[in-house]
Amino acid sequence: MAETNISSGGRPALPMQGVPQPSRNEVLGLPRVHISTHPVMAHKMTALRDKNTQPPEFYRLVKEIGALLAYEATSNLALESVAIETPMEPMIGQRLAGGIGVTPILRAGLGLAEAFREVIPDVQVWHLGLRRDENTLQAMEYYNQLPHRVDLQVCYAVDPMLATGGSAIDAINILKRRGIPRLSYVGIIAAPYGLLKLSQTHPDIDIYIAALDESLNDRGYIMPGLGDAGDRQFGTL
Ligand code: URA
Repeated sequence: MAETNISSGGRPALPMQGVPQPSRNEVLGLPRVHISTHPVMAHKMTALRDKNTQPPEFYRLVKEIGALLAYEATSNLALESVAIETPMEPMIGQRLAGGIGVTPILRAGLGLAEAFREVIPDVQVWHLGLRRDENTLQAMEYYNQLPHRVDLQVCYAVDPMLATGGSAIDAINILKRRGIPRLSYVGIIAAPYGLLKLSQTHPDIDIYIAALDESLNDRGYIMPGLGDAGDRQFGTL
């Protein structure tokens, strides 16, 4: 029997089938979108994408790529002056002004959150569980550990794969309701479709990614991508 794109519940079984998608070129000039051009990043990305890369190595690479992204995404953080004494004499140094938060979208965002903690050890980690419905691709919130008191200068929503953009848009909506002055999204690979959706829905945030891929397949996976980022990090293949 020929494959149908309507499941027994009347919903599309192949949610991206027939959905028009922008090309890479159409989204390359989007404002506030930062796509890494660093050769070390390109090198690590090739190892990450390789299907022969096993979960322990994959997780290590996510953290290394995440540290490079964190370094880039934090380049405009606010600083304040602080008086210290070196072993030689007093001086005025600088330190980060205000708290920094990272919100991993569970579970695939955990490796990137670890990377942020390695770059900035006192970062606050606000876990957010969003699961996408395989049929509709809509994001559903199932876990939220956002604190009541907000004292951050910036929060980074992190999730490796920006596919349809649904989870990223929802995560930013949730964080915006907490009144954080500045929000950014950090991911590893984006599809043009999700990147355009996120940028158009939230034009006031910065978006940092390591690579921009070609398209989404009918099931909403990024092509060429790397497969399921959660399964590959945690060995649930
Ligand atoms: N989530 C993934 O883990 N991979 C994709 O390609 C798309 C969404």
